[in-house]
Amino acid sequence: MLEHDVIIVGGGLAGCRAALEIKRLEPDTDVALVAKTHPIRSHSVAAQGGIAATLKNIDPEDSWEAHAFDTVKGSDYLADQDAVEILTKEAPNTIIDLEHLGVLFSRLEDGRIAQRAFGGHSHKRTCYAADKTGHAILHELVNNLRHHGVTIYDEWYVMELILEDGEAKGVVMYRILDGTLEVVRAKVVMFATGGYGRVFNTTSNDYASTGDGLAMCAAAGLPLEDMEFVQFHPTGLYPVGVLISEAVRGEGAYLRNSEGDRFMEHYAPKQMELAPRDITSRAITLEIRAGRGINSDGSPGGPFVHLDLRHLGKEKIMSRVPFCWEEAHRLVGIDAIHEPMPVRPTAHYSMGGIPVNTDGQVRRSGNTLVEGFFAAGECACVSVHGANRLGSNSLLECVVYGRLTGRAIAQYVQNRKLPQINASTYINRAKTRIDSLLNQKGDLRIAKLRQGFQDSMSEHCGVFRTEEIMQAGIDKLHDLREQYSRVYLDDQSTAWNTELLEALELSNLLIVGEIILTSAFNRKESRGAHSREDFTERDDAQFLRHTLAYHSPAGIDIEYMPVVINRFEPKERKY
Ligand SMILES: Cc1cc2nc3c(=O)[nH]c(=O)nc-3n(C[C@H](O)[C@H](O)[C@H](O)COP(=O)(O)OP(=O)(O)OC[C@H]3O[C@@H](n4cnc5c(N)ncnc54)[C@H](O)[C@@H]3O)c2cc1C
Repeated sequence: MLEHDVIIVGGGLAGCRAALEIKRLEPDTDVALVAKTHPIRSHSVAAQGGIAATLKNIDPEDSWEAHAFDTVKGSDYLADQDAVEILTKEAPNTIIDLEHLGVLFSRLEDGRIAQRAFGGHSHKRTCYAADKTGHAILHELVNNLRHHGVTIYDEWYVMELILEDGEAKGVVMYRILDGTLEVVRAKVVMFATGGYGRVFNTTSNDYASTGDGLAMCAAAGLPLEDMEFVQFHPTGLYPVGVLISEAVRGEGAYLRNSEGDRFMEHYAPKQMELAPRDITSRAITLEIRAGRGINSDGSPGGPFVHLDLRHLGKEKIMSRVPFCWEEAHRLVGIDAIHEPMPVRPTAHYSMGGIPVNTDGQVRRSGNTLVEGFFAAGECACVSVHGANRLGSNSLLECVVYGRLTGRAIAQYVQNRKLPQINASTYINRAKTRIDSLLNQKGDLRIAKLRQGFQDSMSEHCGVFRTEEIMQAGIDKLHDLREQYSRVYLDDQSTAWNTELLEALELSNLLIVGEIILTSAFNRKESRGAHSREDFTERDDAQFLRHTLAYHSPAGIDIEYMPVVINRFEPKERKY
């Protein structure tokens, strides 16, 4: 059995920032970080447009209060306002700290950090490194982990959270290189396992975003919060779904329908293309439904709209958003200097997740906590994004709450002993699970089942939802879950068996999908990204509450938890 004071699962921005903070504050703490990818291949590396903070380098009128208000309004008033206050107050110092670590941000002429406009933000406050911001930050953080002596287990897959008597004691992990199984016991376990974009058939997320951390918590009997709130980013490149950053619209690009109209004037006349993502994704979906989408031959009635950059000119495109130009050129052969890009909404971000308090400690229910267990980043729900996240607030959440969670752990771990674990029970269970998957004599390929599931989730729990459509989705999911016992694996080896990993990930996707659908089914209102055609209004009297969904093989139980409202009273949301 391996032992560490702290084991962090996840090598993206949130996990790395927490590890660094613990080592800075308590250098003698034995911290280990495990990731199923190499840490610098975590999805954070793909973040493009930027990270919000009121540095006031362009706009001296900006303030943390304005950033907090924009965030709460963007969240459709479901964000916890104490958590948002911390996020927005801590933002400027957190950016300066990143800069001192060595992160290369883009600059103004006078050498200060540049800032650009982003959707739903009332001031220019998004700091960036061209359109490769995640890359710039993650590389520096990973370098610093090595410098501080954090143990890194890269390319190990965590299969199970060890939770006994309401206390987290460690994890079970599988070495992808050779199939070794290990139990790690630790005084503190932290999850920073990222999102679940792969639940849907069209997503901007990487192949590793399969919601493993969420599924492991659910399987251990812990609740997941606000899972019905899935962010569909308005501008996924058609047909592949990869992201064309909001930075492109932040720099002034237009959205146009088949008639050439900038249709956002009908949906958000003031903010136009820089309305929040939920509103813009709905607008594009409605335009396509009304027959004003575009086909590949340019005729009307097709499945996408145009993102038009041409008026920005070559120099601006190539200096501010070069990666987006490159993606469209490489993947669909469009030269955005001369032609508009084909785009439509793509599953992008998880507003919900593992419920935590503002120290990052995981909740066991509305008013109790799990001992020894913390979470931060996209897998967690603290909740700063509520029903809809504003662009450039997620990287910020990862570094602010990664840091604060690290700080809380550094203190918490001092009073903890290493827990007792019967390692062989866990190893045997993991071994049995793997062996039974390898030996299963089924007739179904993993890819086929996964595709069926992803198509079903996109069809039954997409941008617009109704009770009837979701009920059909829940029924289909039950069938798909049964089909899982019919999958077969060609690859029986222990070395780099990616097929086995895909089977484990698929079982996680199925759990997460069911929780998303059931939480959405039970929320009978429209709020932020959750848009119901049978309940079109926001219903504060009944649903100004967080969902807590508890999973069990028998079904899902739903409870609700109050929202923290201490500064901004809910109002109608107009842009
Ligand atoms: C294309 C794209 C562009 C984006 N652009 C922006 C932007 O400009 N601004 C912004 O604010 N936000 C942006 N976002 C969102 C933001 O990047 C993410 O929310 C954030 O980076 C998530 O970081 P994280 O640390 O929580 O998780 P991730 O970076 O996703 O890392 C998850 C880690 O967990 C590990 N892991 C997962 N499961 C297991 C397991 N079972 N065992 C072991 N390890 C595991 C993975 O290997 C990985 O190391 C973007 C997202 C995408 C997809």
